[in-house]
Amino acid sequence: MGLIARARVRAAVLLALGTAYIAIEVSAAAGAPETVVEVEAYRGKYSAEAWCRALVEAMPGYVSESLSVVEARLGIIPDPAVTIQILLRDAHPQTLKAISPSRRPPFRTFHYPGGRVHILLNMEFFADMRHDPRQIVLHELVHAVMRTHLKEEDYTKIPHWVREGLAVWTAEQTDERIRTVIRESVRRGSLDRVVPGLEAGDHGLGRYAEYALAMERLVERSGNDAIKKLAQELCAGESCQSVVSELSGERYARFLRESNAFARTRVATKIPRMIDAYAAIVRADKARKYSDVERRAGRFLRQHAKSWLAPNVMYFRAKAARLRKKPARAAKLLDALLDRGPEDNDYFDEALYQLGAVRLEADQPARALESARRLLRDHPDSPLLDRALYHQIAALVARGMDDEALAAIKLYERSFANGKDRRKVAALKRRVGS
Ligand SMILES: [Zn+2]
Repeated sequence: MGLIARARVRAAVLLALGTAYIAIEVSAAAGAPETVVEVEAYRGKYSAEAWCRALVEAMPGYVSESLSVVEARLGIIPDPAVTIQILLRDAHPQTLKAISPSRRPPFRTFHYPGGRVHILLNMEFFADMRHDPRQIVLHELVHAVMRTHLKEEDYTKIPHWVREGLAVWTAEQTDERIRTVIRESVRRGSLDRVVPGLEAGDHGLGRYAEYALAMERLVERSGNDAIKKLAQELCAGESCQSVVSELSGERYARFLRESNAFARTRVATKIPRMIDAYAAIVRADKARKYSDVERRAGRFLRQHAKSWLAPNVMYFRAKAARLRKKPARAAKLLDALLDRGPEDNDYFDEALYQLGAVRLEADQPARALESARRLLRDHPDSPLLDRALYHQIAALVARGMDDEALAAIKLYERSFANGKDRRKVAALKRRVGS
């Protein structure tokens, strides 16, 4: 495979002194031109926070590390003729006139006119370590490096399962995706819907486990080099179907079918033994049998405190306590849950919402304000933004912070004309106005 020469990654970091970018030069084999990866200097709502400064500072290191991993695992390096730019942004900048839940993926890579490849990273999704920046940079660089070799229309012709499968497999996110799929299968009542076949069903984050498992199957059949050949030949413009058939020794349709069976089996082996107890809690929550939820969740957490299903169970338990009018207990459970961090917690934003509600009910507006602000700042994708903004308004009014309350009310009116709490917001407006 002559397309991609062995490369030496030189992490020459030109730190941003007056310039907008940190550039990382990746030098290819001797004499070849250099690829430049640029990291945009970040100026956003987290600029002053220690975790954010540390992340931005570490970014060039993550990039050069990631390029080495991409080369080692996929055998590809970026085309030196194309610059990759990493843009660090806020999905919801503080200057927004109106807000709505962001439906865009938090991180994405795309061709930019003028022959650049952009990686866009929204900083909110790194707050609270919701995502590991090392893994995210590596994942996105897999897409970016491949894009440097292909025109946009040729890259997007490659099926989703191959593009995402390569990125998830390389970034070693497969197990995390499998755990998500198992929790999702309980919520939706069937594994069929979450592992429907590589080219069946809707594309989305929930599908990544099956995509990455297709790569694992290819490795089991044909060895690690098969993945390298797949990436290299796709970068050389070969058709996906013929490369997959050639590497797997199977007709393409058969490969899809067998990979689906493989994924189901593999996911099934990762289902933990306490899944039935978990499913009973999910059902009781759905049926609003909250005393049942509390009892079952308490037992689950005594028996399986270390399970990766525990964070969701803690959430169901806390929500049940709140709805059964035990605010002090609910607040304590929610604090403990949020302290654990977002790993394996599908309800992190909802926990913040519940905590805001509990604190308002317990007449602790200062603390309610904290939860509401955190949800609004860090979770631009949450469907609960309107509810959190109402909590914020109620807390501001309760604290007598009328100017801020009025500004928040105006934001609510511009953003959520049909919001669930609009009447309560209107009543608070009359109170502040009088
Ligand atoms: Zn991806």
